[in-house]
Amino acid sequence: MSNLPKPLRSRLAEAFSLQTLELVRKQGAADTTQKFLWRLRDHSLIESVLIPANPALFGEASDRHTLCISTQVGCAYGCRFCASGLDGWKRNLTPDEIIEQVLAVERNVISDKWRVTGKEIMSPVTRHPSRFVDNIVVMGMGEPLANYDHLLKALKILNAPWGGGIGARKITISTSGLAPQIRRLATEPLQFRLAISLHGATDEVRNRIMPVNRKYPLKELVAACEDYQGAKGRMITFEYILIAGVNDSIEQTKPLAALARRLFAKVNLIPYNQVEGLKWDRPDEKVCEAFLRALEKQKVAATLRREKGRDIDAACGQLRLKTEKELGRIPT
Ligand code: SF4
Repeated sequence: MSNLPKPLRSRLAEAFSLQTLELVRKQGAADTTQKFLWRLRDHSLIESVLIPANPALFGEASDRHTLCISTQVGCAYGCRFCASGLDGWKRNLTPDEIIEQVLAVERNVISDKWRVTGKEIMSPVTRHPSRFVDNIVVMGMGEPLANYDHLLKALKILNAPWGGGIGARKITISTSGLAPQIRRLATEPLQFRLAISLHGATDEVRNRIMPVNRKYPLKELVAACEDYQGAKGRMITFEYILIAGVNDSIEQTKPLAALARRLFAKVNLIPYNQVEGLKWDRPDEKVCEAFLRALEKQKVAATLRREKGRDIDAACGQLRLKTEKELGRIPT
């Protein structure tokens, strides 16, 4: 804007930024899971993951493009199996940093495809020429409901017809179990989907791997989910990472099935992705299949993720951790 006075341009540049994310790394191929590592204004790193058509994860066959976005730099909740919490919590993302993950991925993918095909591409769901992402899962780095106000502001903009135009039912918020915030979410007028990162169907198992359970044990979490369903009438999803010798025994399917039936929840089983420096293992494929069958026998709607992105540091926070170590910002 060279027609503006120079001092005004300097002041505008100091106060505003048109683009907040800078691409540091991208892993994956065009038609498979792609992971994006972004640098923020303060040089913090965050991840977003683009998952083209994932019927195994979200239960509906389609050619959708789902984007998993982050809401915090690091995470304070310290789930024992998760790479995102390993380096602690740094800060909440601002609404623009949450939204721009969607825009930046679209810019990146659309310019790639345009280069290859020379054709305009658009989402088959929204039929919007510049809207490539049509599903959002808030399941990346951070506990979304611990950044409640910024998250909701961002999601309302992504949902608004004048904004992203992505339907609220195409947006899933995942939480490790912050019961009070689940109740707060139940009072919001928009019909977002709710997913619970459960990973254990008893307090004993959850206490072992998820410190948040000591604050909000299962009884309280389930009561909050019931309130959410009472207000929204929507199906809840349980995310359940299968970790060898921790939560993958057939015994665990009984309390899990009981919880799922009580909350009319479907269960997404996700075999654990190895994280460097953590002691947990991925169960054998046969164990995962047996766990799935045991749930189905107990009349629970369940899916088992047959991995997308296993070879690209797929566990949440893993690519960031690797890069931070390479940059010498955290000890190896
Ligand atoms: S699983 Fe979610 S809540 Fe738990 S440490 Fe990782 S990012 Fe945080």
